[in-house]
Parts: sequence; C-alpha cells; structure tokens
Amino acid sequence: MDAPSEIKARLDVDEVIGSYIQLKPAGANLRGVCPFHQEKTASFMVSPEKGIWHCFGCGEGGDIFTFVEKMEGLDFRGALEKLAARAGVTLENRQSKPGEIKRTQRLYQILELATRYYQAQLVKSKTAQNYLKGRKFSAETIKTWRFGWAPTKGDELVKFLRSRQISDAEIVAAGLARKQPRGLVDMFRGRVLLPLADVEARVIGYTGRVLDDKALPKYLNTPQTKLFDKSRFLFGLHLAREAIKQSDMAVVVEGNMDVVASHQAGIAQVVASSGTALTAPQLKLLSRFTRTVKLAFDQDSAGLRATERAIPLAQAAGVSLHIVNLGQVKDPDELINLEGGKQQWHQAIAKAPYVMDWLLETLPKQYKQDSATAKKQLSDHFIAVLNRLSDPIEQDHYAQKLAELIDVSPQSVRAKLAQQPESKAAPPEVVKAAFQARPVLDESRIAEEALLGLTLLFSDTRVSLQDLSADNWSTEERQDIHRYIQNHPTTDFKSQLPTELQKHDNYVKILLLQGEERYGDWAPLDRRIESFSLAQRLANLKIKKQQKELNAEIRQAEASGDKALKQKLLRQFRDLSRKI
Ligand SMILES: [Zn+2]
Repeated sequence: MDAPSEIKARLDVDEVIGSYIQLKPAGANLRGVCPFHQEKTASFMVSPEKGIWHCFGCGEGGDIFTFVEKMEGLDFRGALEKLAARAGVTLENRQSKPGEIKRTQRLYQILELATRYYQAQLVKSKTAQNYLKGRKFSAETIKTWRFGWAPTKGDELVKFLRSRQISDAEIVAAGLARKQPRGLVDMFRGRVLLPLADVEARVIGYTGRVLDDKALPKYLNTPQTKLFDKSRFLFGLHLAREAIKQSDMAVVVEGNMDVVASHQAGIAQVVASSGTALTAPQLKLLSRFTRTVKLAFDQDSAGLRATERAIPLAQAAGVSLHIVNLGQVKDPDELINLEGGKQQWHQAIAKAPYVMDWLLETLPKQYKQDSATAKKQLSDHFIAVLNRLSDPIEQDHYAQKLAELIDVSPQSVRAKLAQQPESKAAPPEVVKAAFQARPVLDESRIAEEALLGLTLLFSDTRVSLQDLSADNWSTEERQDIHRYIQNHPTTDFKSQLPTELQKHDNYVKILLLQGEERYGDWAPLDRRIESFSLAQRLANLKIKKQQKELNAEIRQAEASGDKALKQKLLRQFRDLSRKI
C-alpha cells in the first residue's frame, strides 16, 4: 500500500474533518456549515462510508488530503506530512534527499535563534524602543510581530551564532551575514528588525529599518536565500489568514509596517507584497484563502502601472480585484494614525471599487483636456486594459461604459477593440492550474453533475444519456464517466468502482453522494422524467454556448464592415434559436 492509501485506511474522514468543524449526523452521512464559503444553512456533507466530503453550496469536495490542503493552506505534500504524522505513518522522502531536509530544518533553527537574539537586544536598547513607541506600536504588537534590534557594531550576531556552533557557511546561507575581506559582518546593523515569517509562522528573513532617516537605505531586506524568495512571499499572511478566510477578502498593501499598523487597528485581513508589483505566485497563494483581493497601493504612476499589470494575473487566478482609495495620504500607516483614521481605513476597504470601475474613474483625471486627442489617448489606454480581459461579456460591458464616458458610439469602441492584436501577456501556467482546481459552480456544472449522479445510481435512467455526446460535458472527467456509463448500462456503481474509473475515484464518489442526497427518496418514474429534462437542459446549454460564440463573430463582422458575412452568421444564429 502506498502512503496516501495507508493514511486513508487508518484515519476516518469524519474524525479528521470533525476536528476542524462541527458535524452533525444526517442519515448515513454527516452535515456541517461549510468552512470554504459563507453560509447560514449547513450544506457541507461528509460521507464516512465513501471517505469523501462535498459542499452542495460552493461545489468544493474531495478526500481528507484535499480538505487539509484547503483548510490549512498547504500543498499536497504539506497535507500528506500533516496527516501522516496524525496516522503514525512514516513517509519516505522521495522528492528530497534526507541531507537536504536537515539543512533546511537547520536554517529555520538558525533564523529562530537569531530572532530571539534580536528580540533580547531590543529590550536593552532604549533608542530602538523609543522609535517603535514613536510609531505608536504597542507592547503587545511588538511582541506579536517579534520586533528586534540589530546592534550597531559590525559582527555581534556572527559572534553569538558562532558561540552556538553554527558555521560561517550556514550564517551566510541564512542571509544573516555578508563576507568581507576582513571576515564576516552582520547583514543588519543599527536597525529595528521586523521578522518575515512564512505562512507556517517560521521566520525566513527580516526587514530592517534605520532609526535616522538620513542613513541609507532606509529599509533593508534579507537577500534571496533558500528560504526567502521575495516574489513568492506575502508579509503577514501567518497572522492574517484566519481573518482573510472569515471575511472572505484580503487587502494587499505595499509596506510591511502598514500591515503591522492595520492589524494593531483591528483590521487583520491585511498582507504586504513587499514591493509594488503583485506577482502570479503571490496571487496563487492568496487565492487559497479568498477570491477577493483589494489592493491599497500608492496611486502614483508606478502604483497605477503595478495595478494594471495585476489585472490579467488576477483574472487568471480567478481572483476579483478591487482598488482601495487612500485619498490624500501616502500609505495606510499614515491614514491609521490620523484622527478618526481607523474608521476611514475601514471604510476605504469596504468601499473599494472593482478594478475596471476604478480605472474608468481614474483615467479621466489623467487625460483631463476635453479634446479629440485626449479622448483618443484615454481610449487607447483603457482599450489596452480591456484587451487583457478574458471574459467576453465583461469586456463588452466595459466597452459600452467607455463609449458612454467619452461620448462615442459603442460600435466604434468595439471596432477599435477588434483591431487590437491578441494580448501577449499570457498568464503563467501555475496560475492557470490554480484556477482550474477551483471550479466555479455554474449552471452547466450543476446540471451535468446532477445527471451523472442520477444515472450512476439508477440504471433505469441511463437511457436519457443516449442523445448526448462528448461535447455536452464541460470537463474531460465528466466525458469519461458519461462514456463509461453509456457503454455499461447495467453496472452497479454503488457496490464497486470499475478499474477504468479508478482515476476519477473521489469524483465518482462525490457524484454518487450528490445523487443520493438529491434523488434518493424520489419515485422511479419521477427520476426518469428528471433524467430526460436534465439531458434536455445540457443540450440547450450547448446551443447557448454556440450562440455566444457566434455573437462574438457577428460583432467582429460588424466592426470590419463585412455585411455578407454578418448576414450568414445571423442566419446561423436564428437556426440555432429554433432548436431550443
Ligand atoms: Zn461550501
């Protein structure tokens, strides 16, 4: 038996999930309030018999590994390790060599040791303490975020770590010192230190600020190390993740100190991107906890470009992007420390407009003159962003809004959009994968899953599948299952899963659970009628999809003035309408 199967055999799904959320018996299954979307009625089900969970509200589901991954914000390996420890199963380290793991573990230990050292130094330094008081950080905040002080003298930390039998090579690898001709010197000297912790709250680096604004650089960060990779790091996530999950929203600011100030003010769903541009890996990390991200960046021209660059990345990650307006102040820290500032910060977050609406508000201020040139510049700018939107309906909606704004016909905006070359900013593969792993519960998915659940459970409903083909299903998984059921009209899927469907093991179990919940107590005749009406709905949805595609082609033909083509496409559109 491989490790995941052995872990599954040893742990009960209801016991594992029951240790995170409250479950109540519901027939053969258990029911609870879904931890992955906000709901009042309990639509989250656990089936001890099948070893799976499924939420009827948001459509998420899987086995104990997927549950722990989502709940703890871990990857598969992380969930595997966690559950292995719980089940008492020893994992072989196939991916990394044992020596490698030991070295990484040691780096974490060294950084933990350094953090404690710096914390102890802060207690001794009155000037550093006064500086933090001046920034209005409370004693509790200083303790929670583990602020420290790096002594001014050249190699105090190096000496301390050497006295603890840590080698020079390890000190450098941890990003704590630099090699110089006269020997190792501390990376951070005469700075207040804020530890950078990963999502598991392990320190992986520091940001250090000088006390005197004249000294440069004002802020110094740990360089790239084995543990610290700036482009994948979000500051404060270890302390923000619960609040992010609960409010189903994350706020991203530029500065780490802004995060600390905001948490102290009681607004804890805030993290920092440590630099202006938000990267694809950072968005992917956030999308584990929420799909609503609000950016509170400085709105100078660099901030504006950083915001626009984030639009296609957010789209690819399935994240809805909103922009927080900071008004006249330069950052959240400054805002929070104003009279009534906490309340203003709170309201600015609550009112943050969707990114496209925000652009429509912002751009006219950049191109103020009411001339033809200004209109052209503004529309060029906005259309370049529109071109990066992947959803045609959304694209069309904002094309119309632009037309209203600059007072031209919607056709001319669409014509201009049609002339644009395909956007080259293709989202990175990683983000695409993250998005597909989080399917949206849409109309076709509901109908497709209902029909598969019904036909898997009751062989007398399978005849309804005969007029459907592969392209009636939105995923390959469902195509596979449909094909198998159709070719095996008498198989009893409840008693045993055929080997050909083993690779869809969890999914078939979820479909069975859905079928039992929805149709378990229906009369046979009602079930058959339902199966035919679901099959009809799938057929109609396919036609609607084709019509949507035709619509886009018609618009293009209109824009390019090709009347003959437009007529032909319109005829096709009407023919399709008759089939519904
Ligand atoms: Zn749910």
